[in-house]
Amino acid sequence: MSPDARAFRRIVVTGGAGFLGSHLCDRLMTEQAEAVVCVDNLLTGSSDNLAPLLADPRFTLLRRDVSEPIHVPGKVDLVLHFASPASPADYLRLPIHTLKAGSLGTLHALELAERKGARFVLASTSEIYGEPLVHPQPETYRGNVDAVGPRSVYDEAKRFAEALTTAYRTSSGVDTGIVRIFNTYGPRMRPYDGRAVPTFVRQALTGEQITVTGDGSQTRSLCYVDDMVDGILAFAASGHPGPVNLGTTEETSMLELARLIRDMTGCRAAIRFIDRPVDDPTVRRPDTTLARQSLHWSPETSLRQGLKATIAWFAAQLDTALPQASE
Ligand code: NAD
Repeated sequence: MSPDARAFRRIVVTGGAGFLGSHLCDRLMTEQAEAVVCVDNLLTGSSDNLAPLLADPRFTLLRRDVSEPIHVPGKVDLVLHFASPASPADYLRLPIHTLKAGSLGTLHALELAERKGARFVLASTSEIYGEPLVHPQPETYRGNVDAVGPRSVYDEAKRFAEALTTAYRTSSGVDTGIVRIFNTYGPRMRPYDGRAVPTFVRQALTGEQITVTGDGSQTRSLCYVDDMVDGILAFAASGHPGPVNLGTTEETSMLELARLIRDMTGCRAAIRFIDRPVDDPTVRRPDTTLARQSLHWSPETSLRQGLKATIAWFAAQLDTALPQASE
C-alpha cells in the first residue's frame, strides 16, 4: 500500500467467515484495524476460519443474513461486501440465496455505508464477463452472459450488484468501488466446494482419481489469496471507483493444473475426464493494466509457490501425510 493511502480503522466485512473474507479479516486485524465486524450467516463459511480472531476484543462476529438490513453500532469507515455463495457448486444448490445476497445483500451493505459515511467496496467477479468473446478481458468488455442459464443466478446477481453500487455513487454520493475478482485459491477453501484447486488437491491427497471436466483444455488464471488480499486492500485505500480487474495473467489449462498438483503431491492416481458443466467458460484471463497503473499492484506468488502452501494446508486438514513430492 502506498504511504499516503487511506488507512481504515473500523471495518465491516460481510462474508468475513468465508475463504476470501477471513483472509481479509486476518490482514486487517494484523495491520491496521481498531475494530473489525464480520457479518456472516455461515451459509458457506465457517467460524473455524476466524478461530484466531474470535478471542480478540477488537473483533466481532455478527451472525446475520445480509438479505436483512444490517445494523452495526458505532463508527464504520470501510464496508467490504463479500457475502455471497461463490463456488459454482454452492450457487447452483443455493440459487435464490445467491440472488438475494447479490441484490438485497448489496442494497443493505450500501445502506450501511451511506448511514456511516463509509467507503464501500463490492466484491464483483470475472463471471460477469460470462463466456467471454474478448480475450483477455479488459474492464470495458461488457460480457456474454445467458440471463436464464444455470450460472445466471450468480452472474446476474453480481451484474445487478455492480449497477446498484454505481447508482449509489452517482445518485447518493457514497464513496463506492467495484473490484472484479478472478479465480483465487489458497488455504481455507473447502475440500468439497467444487472449485478446481480444492477438488484436485483433495483427490490427489486422498488417492482418488483426479476428475478433469471436458478435455481439460479450458483455462483459468489462478491468483494466490495473499496477493488478492493485497490487491483488494490497495483498491479500498485508493478511493478508485472501479471496476478494476484483480487477478493473475498467468493462464493455466485445467489439465495442466491437474498434472501439476499430481506431481507436487507425489500422487499416482489416474486423471479421469468427466462431463463439463453447462456454460462453463472456455477461457478466463484478466487484462490487469488498470490495476497495475492505478494501484501499482500485480500478483507476486508463482502458481507453484501458492500450490505448495495450499497443499500443505489441505494435508493438515485432511490429516494426510504429505508425500515426497517434486518442488
Ligand atoms: P465463500 O463461500 O468462501 O465465502 C462467502 C461468505 O459469505 C461465506 O462465509 C458465507 O457464509 C457468507 N454468506 C453467503 N451468503 C450470505 C448472506 N446472505 N448473509 C451473510 N453471509 C453470507 O466464497 P469466497 O470465495 O470467499 O468469495 C467471497 C466473495 O468474493 C463472494 O462475493 C464472491 O462472489 C467473490 N469472488 C470470489 C472469487 C474467488 O475466486 N474466490 C472470485 C470472484 C469473486
